[in-house]
Amino acid sequence: MKPIIPQTELELKKEEEFIFSLFEDLMANTSKHVKPGDEVLIRKAFNLAHESHRGTRRKSGEPYILHPIAVAKIVTAEIGLGTIGIVCALLHDVVEDTDYTLEDIRHMFGDKVASIIDGLTKISGMFDQQSSLQAENFRKMLMTLSDDVRVILIKLADRLHNMRTLDAMPPNKQMKIAGETIYLYAPLAHRLGLYAIKTELEDLSLKYRHPKIFQEIANKIKDNEKKRQQEINRFSLPIIEKLEKNNINFDINGRPKSIFSIWTKMQTKNIPFEEVYDLMAIRIVFDSLNREMEKTQCWQIYSLITDIYTPKPDRIRDWISSPKANGYEALHTTVMGPNGKWVEVQIRSRRMDEIAERGYAAHWKYKGEKNSEGELDKWIKKIREMLENPNSNALEFLDEFKMNLFASEIMIFTPKGDLITLPKNSTTLDFAYEIHSEIGNKAIGAKVNHKLVPLNHILLSGDQVEIITSSKQRIQKEWLENVKTAKAKLGITNAIKAETKNRIEKGKEILETKLKELNIQPSSRVFRKILPEYDVLSKDELYSKIGSGIIQLDDLVKILKKNTKSKFVRYWGLQILKSGSSKEKKAPAPKETTTDTLVIRDDMNISYKIAKCCNPIPGDDVLGYKNPNNDFIVIHKSKCPNAIKIMSSEGNCIVPVKWTSQKMLSFLAKLSLNGIDRVGIAADITAVISDELNVNIRKIYIETHDGIFEGSLDLYVYSVADLNNLILNMSKIKGVESVKRVEDITN
Ligand code: MN
Repeated sequence: MKPIIPQTELELKKEEEFIFSLFEDLMANTSKHVKPGDEVLIRKAFNLAHESHRGTRRKSGEPYILHPIAVAKIVTAEIGLGTIGIVCALLHDVVEDTDYTLEDIRHMFGDKVASIIDGLTKISGMFDQQSSLQAENFRKMLMTLSDDVRVILIKLADRLHNMRTLDAMPPNKQMKIAGETIYLYAPLAHRLGLYAIKTELEDLSLKYRHPKIFQEIANKIKDNEKKRQQEINRFSLPIIEKLEKNNINFDINGRPKSIFSIWTKMQTKNIPFEEVYDLMAIRIVFDSLNREMEKTQCWQIYSLITDIYTPKPDRIRDWISSPKANGYEALHTTVMGPNGKWVEVQIRSRRMDEIAERGYAAHWKYKGEKNSEGELDKWIKKIREMLENPNSNALEFLDEFKMNLFASEIMIFTPKGDLITLPKNSTTLDFAYEIHSEIGNKAIGAKVNHKLVPLNHILLSGDQVEIITSSKQRIQKEWLENVKTAKAKLGITNAIKAETKNRIEKGKEILETKLKELNIQPSSRVFRKILPEYDVLSKDELYSKIGSGIIQLDDLVKILKKNTKSKFVRYWGLQILKSGSSKEKKAPAPKETTTDTLVIRDDMNISYKIAKCCNPIPGDDVLGYKNPNNDFIVIHKSKCPNAIKIMSSEGNCIVPVKWTSQKMLSFLAKLSLNGIDRVGIAADITAVISDELNVNIRKIYIETHDGIFEGSLDLYVYSVADLNNLILNMSKIKGVESVKRVEDITN
């Protein structure tokens, strides 16, 4: 419904009255965090916002000031922030959109408000650029967490109101805003424990991104509601009776499923609406006698319910003894309902329910006040650590962040019993790095529940872990495959970098000393001579191999004295056979054969070429095609289709040939390969090739996408046997799916 833009004095007056009534409604709904004396400050903020936005209208046509009022209301009524939060929400678009500056705000409202507004202004207008900038901006936004988490909370409230009023936007803007919301804001709300806001953001986003699906599910919920309510009642009645008999004050209701969560389940489990909707969940929220009794009461209610319905073994989730990282507390269990279906039951006190719905953030103690080492603080600390690392690439960071948001968590205990939260499927090595990077770097194994396990052991929630370290331990690249957390990956990468740097420096020193002894300047001519001899591609590789002792410099003098030749000596050695002269085989002689024995050598004036269509190498069965002018011979594989064609039409031009002295010669061959990408796969491939004495790499090309790699290798080989051997060894590499020889090497 589009509001009418006032034209007359009277209409304007009416609109003004409407604005003030909305503000008074906000004042009436401020949370208990607002002290009576603070009202003046909030009114001052409202007046400034109202004056500065005067004359501006939103896309919907309504006065702009309605937006800050609505955001302020969300901030206090739905998130539970106090005076500063409300003031900042009212002022959140002032610096961005009007002539007032941050300094004006500082003068009128002080440093704290100014710094929050500054944070909000800095992060506004983000997401307008490409994805990498988005990530960078998102990172900046999270940075502000370290200053004041209220910046994020107000930003979320701002986004929520924009989503609630998204109808007024043109469709392309709707898609963009709804996309950002599901990509960034909903996970953020989830991580901060703002369950109600997260759910609403998800549903609104779905509504604009997939309107049809949204409507379909909404209709189905409506159609099924009555039947569902009956089932809930049937299940709840015995519980209600029993709890009342025990003098417990409580509310019980069927936990409503959000449209988005139904849709997600339909997608991920590939099941129809009915099957998702059928799964019942009941929530019991009770009035606790006092804070200390909450836990006991939860278990008492659990006990009363399981007197009626049988609980499913292993389905107890005790989020009371160890709350989730976002502050969530509750006791969950699953019991067998009266109609033979499992029903999830959630038991919480009012306080826990408040945290679950509105978020732990509302309980967050601000900087300067007493710092509670709650789970939220720890989470913010973790995020900050990631952010403060200048090396982490912004996009990667975003991925890690999202991964950490969505992966469910496991809880691990230190030997002293401290609780550490890690993403699911974390290993003992992750745990080690979580404790300290030095412990990670020196880890050699671990004891999980007093049993010795390796570093790649996957941890389960509740494990108690002790890391065993050794000062002799040396970090390995493969470790990267054994860790899941960003912190561990970063720790390993940094340690490897440091070690490589050390090795290079050490190697450089050794080589320079040695050259000095020999009275040789380390010139580029010297390196040109040394590098190929030691089979390395760069100076750094040479230094590194010297530093780690892989390359000993015992033969340095000999190498430097040697006349350098290209490493790959290439010349053809083919013998054109006289029919039947082969000693090994009594192969039937081709019908049209020359009777002369012809041996081709490099110095002969008849030359030959290797056919590009089939690229034979020593060991392949080959034949020669003498061209009619008799000036050269083309060597084809016997099975080459071109050769077969020639044989049938110009049989008299075919010359039988055989390879000779194979070890002396190297030939170009091409392989194509593909497989599953993983860290270090390229290194493993090159390692296998360099292990193969008779093979040298000319060119390696590997491309990865979506976790798959494809590559090609140009190699110098001596024979088919060597090549086959290599193919066999390469296909043994973990991740490699197929290795094939490419016959046509022209491209
Ligand atoms: Mn806004």
